[in-house]
Amino acid sequence: MTGTGTPADARRAVPRTDAVLDSPDLAGARERLGRRLVRDAVGRAQQRVREGALAPDLDAVVAAVLADLPPTASSLRPVVNATGVLLHTNLGRAPLSAAAVRAVADAAGTTDVELDLATGRRARRGRGATAALAAAVPDAGAVHVVNNGAAALVLACTALAGGGLDRDVVMSRGEMVEVGDGFRLHELVASTGARLREVGTTNRTTAADVAAAFEAAEREGRRVGLVLKVHPSNFRVEGFTAAPGTADLARVCRSAPGGRVPLLVDTGSGLLAPRRDLPDEPDAASALRAGADLVTASGDKLLGGPQAGLLLGRADLVEQLRRHPLARALRVDKLTLAALEATLTGPPPPVVAALEADLGHLRERAQRCAAALRTADPDLDVAVVDSEAVVGGGGAPGVVLPSVALSLPEAFAEPLRRTGQPEAVPVLTRVEGGRCLVDLRAVLPHDDALIGALIGALTGALLAARR
Ligand SMILES: *Cc1c(COP(=O)(O)O)cnc(C)c1O
Repeated sequence: MTGTGTPADARRAVPRTDAVLDSPDLAGARERLGRRLVRDAVGRAQQRVREGALAPDLDAVVAAVLADLPPTASSLRPVVNATGVLLHTNLGRAPLSAAAVRAVADAAGTTDVELDLATGRRARRGRGATAALAAAVPDAGAVHVVNNGAAALVLACTALAGGGLDRDVVMSRGEMVEVGDGFRLHELVASTGARLREVGTTNRTTAADVAAAFEAAEREGRRVGLVLKVHPSNFRVEGFTAAPGTADLARVCRSAPGGRVPLLVDTGSGLLAPRRDLPDEPDAASALRAGADLVTASGDKLLGGPQAGLLLGRADLVEQLRRHPLARALRVDKLTLAALEATLTGPPPPVVAALEADLGHLRERAQRCAAALRTADPDLDVAVVDSEAVVGGGGAPGVVLPSVALSLPEAFAEPLRRTGQPEAVPVLTRVEGGRCLVDLRAVLPHDDALIGALIGALTGALLAARR
C-alpha cells in the first residue's frame, strides 16, 4: 500500500463507482453475475479504500473487486457432506445424480414439458416422469407428483376428508410424528379441515381400535374419509408395542360399516421396492400389495431424487386427487420433473451408492487422502478411523452404517466449514470425542480431492496459529 495520507485525502481519492464498474477487466463478471452483484463488490472495495486498507488507485480496486466477487449469482454454495449423515436436511437432503443434473440443465430453458412435439398439441404435463414412476412401481394403478411429501398428504386429506367435506381422518396415537422443525403430521392433517379421530395409545394400536373408531363415527353420524398409516420414520418405540400391519388395516377398511374407507400409507422414505439392507423401511410396492389404496413418499430421501411428493395407488383415487383444485397449487416445475425422471431411469443416484458403499473401498480412499496429507505435512495429526454413519433425513432410525473417516484435531471443523475463501467448497464434518471426523460414506468419490486440498490449505495456517 502506498501513501494513503489522512482519511480525508483517502475519501477524495476513492475511484468512482462507474469508473471501476466499467473496467474492461470486469466485463466477464458483469456478464456472468449482472451489474448489481459487481456493484456491491465495488462498494465493499471502495469502503476498504476509505478505511485506508486498500490503495486508492483503479487497478488495485479492480483487483480487489475480482477477488471478492461471489462465484455465482446464487448465494447457495455447494458443500461436501462429510458428516456421515447420508440425507442431511440442512444440506438439501439427496444430492442429484449426474444424469439428473444434466436433465435439469437441459429442461431449464424452454422445454416440451406440456406439449406433444409430434402433434403440436398440449400433452399431459410431466408424462415422462409419471410414466417412469409408474414403471418403477407396477402395483400402482396410477401415480401423481406434487411438491413434497407433506404436500402429498395435504392433497390426499383435503380431497378425501377436508376442504368442506368435514370427514374424519383416523390416525394412531403412536404415529403422531413430528417430522422436523416443529412440523407435526397430525396438525398438517387438521389444517385441511378434516377432523382427526385418534385411536390407540402411544405404544399400542390394533386393527380392532380402527374398527371401533369406524363404529363410533357411525354412531355419531360422521363419515370417515381416510385411514392414515404413518411410518414413524425418525424414531423407534421399543418394548410393549403393537401397530396394525397394512394388510390388517386394509381388511378393516374394506368392511367399514359406512362403506369402504381408503387406506393411505405414508412411507416417508421413498423406497419404491424393499431393500434388504434396510429391512424396517417400508416401501411403496409392498404397501400397495398389502392393500393400501394410496401411498405417499418423498422424492429426496432414499429415492435419491429432487424434492417431490410421490402419490401412488388406486387409479380412481389418484385421478380424484389430480383433478382437485388444490393439485394446481402443489404442482411441480419442469426442473423437478426432469430430475425425477432421470433419477428413476438413469444410473443409481449418490444416496444409493452411499448406502451400498464398500467398506474396503472407503478405507482405501481415506488412506490415500491421509497419505497425501502426510506427504504435504509430516506434522499433521491425521488418522484413518472406523466410523458410524446413519441414513438421516428422518429415515431408518437405529440403522448404523459402518463407515471410515479421517480423524483430525477438532480445531479443523470450523475452518473446514467456513473455508475463508469464496471459491473453496466448504466441508461439513462431525465432531465426536474431541476429534473432527471427515466421514467418507456420503462423500462423492470425486470430492476426495476437494477435501484433501482444503485440509492441506488449512494445515499451514492452523499450525502457524498454534505456534
Ligand atoms: C419426511 C416425511 C414426511 C415429509 O415429507 P417431506 O418431503 O419432507 O415434505 C412425511 N411423512 C414421513 C413419514 C416422512 O418421513
